Order: sequence, then C-alpha cells, then structure tokens
Amino acid sequence: MIDSSDEKQRTVLRETLETLWTIEQDFRRSLGDFSAVRAKAPDVSSVVDSILPDTTKQRQNELDGTSLAQLEKLVTACRLCKLEKTRHLVVFGEGNIPARVMVVGEGPGADEDAAGRPFVGKAGQYLDRWLASIQLSRTNGAYIANIVKCRPPGNRDPESDEIAHCLPYLERQIELIRPETILCLGRVSAHTLLNREGTLQSMRGQWFRYRSVPLLVTYHPSAVLRNPSLRAPVWEDMQRLAAFLHIELPHKAR
Ligand code: SF4
Repeated sequence: MIDSSDEKQRTVLRETLETLWTIEQDFRRSLGDFSAVRAKAPDVSSVVDSILPDTTKQRQNELDGTSLAQLEKLVTACRLCKLEKTRHLVVFGEGNIPARVMVVGEGPGADEDAAGRPFVGKAGQYLDRWLASIQLSRTNGAYIANIVKCRPPGNRDPESDEIAHCLPYLERQIELIRPETILCLGRVSAHTLLNREGTLQSMRGQWFRYRSVPLLVTYHPSAVLRNPSLRAPVWEDMQRLAAFLHIELPHKAR
C-alpha cells in the first residue's frame, strides 16, 4: 500500500486526537464527572481536515476535469517530489489514441531524461520490437508511459513518496486515454498498479484488472536484455496480449 508522508501525518494526528479524547473521558470518570462522558468516540475527521488538509483529495479534485493537454502542462511544470531537482526533462508519455494497449514502465532512464520521451534507449528500441511483433507501435494502437515522470538518479527504483506524489498523474492519464488493456513492465509498475507485492514470476501469465481495465504483467525490456532466458516468457505474454485483442499473428517472430 502506498502511503505518502502527508497521509501518515494525518493518520498520526487522527490517532493522537482519539487517544486524547479517551484520556479525557477516563479522567472525567475517575473524578466522578459523568456529565460529559460520551458512549461513542467523536468523528475527528473534520478537525484533522482543518489542521492538516487532505492534499491527495485536493489534488485529485484539481486533476479531475483536466484534458490530456492540460495534464501534460501540469506534469511538465511539476515540482512535487525530490526527483524534480535531478531531472533534465519530464517524460509525460507518448503514443497513439485510441490505445489498444497502454504500456507502463517504472520511470525514465538517462536517454529518456535527455529526450523527454519514454523508452527511447536500447530497452525502448527492444520494446518497440515487442510491440511490432504483435502489429502495434507508438503510432498504431500503443501508448507508453511510466509510474514516475522524472528520472530517479542512477536508475534506482522510484521511492514510495515519489510514487505517491506522481501516481495521480498516471491515474488521470489512464482515465483520459481509456486503453483497452494495460501492460505493466517490471516489478515496480506491477506492484504499484496492482497495489500488491509478489515476484514478477508469480504475477505474469494471468490477467488482472486495474480499475476496470484488463492488465497483464511482463518483464522489463532491460531485464530481458540482461537475461535472454526471459525472452520466451515475454513472447508468451505478447501472444497472450495479441490473443486478447484479437490480433492475428502472421508468424512467431521474437
Ligand atoms: S516525478 Fe512526478 S511528482 Fe515528482 S517532480 Fe516529477 S512529475 Fe512531479
């Protein structure tokens, strides 16, 4: 479960207020003052909201109603997490709409950070071949995006606070693009969109749903470039995706 520091602070405040209320009630009881002793704990949500406003909800409201172009403008100017300090260019995503598949990676690498486009390095060229093998491309039925829009330094995994800040952008992007399917590339993407832990091996080979959109998990192209034994399972996944989308494959190229 992703939890931003704001949410944690709100939880701590809520629990503190509830504990204070319990102590006050016990104190009154110990003094024999039953006039203000209440049977039920009060709902402290409005007090929490007034002290620490729910920024996630506020942000969700801000993003609701944006068009894709407006969303891209917001993302390009975003400074919400620490990745803005080290990025060169924000990588919003690109592709063809209507999208038969929305491919979701974990975050931009060095090539993407320099170009401002997703999956343009060696791994990206390999991904383009995967898509071509099922007759899709960035100009034909495929849209490509990432969990975080700015490059984590040194290609490390994005951290949970970075994901928590950035995820609402992807959620809105998916709402606007309304892809027929989602293909998660790698563990970070799968864990985030499915909100569950597990090895990639245990998650691939079956269909899930992200909200109502059918979702498939496969390996990240970088991992497959490092470990060619993963080519066969990826090809199985691409065939599974093609079959779901009723794309007839003329040959079994990998
Ligand atoms: S990674 Fe996302 S939340 Fe962080 S600065 Fe970039 S666009 Fe904003």
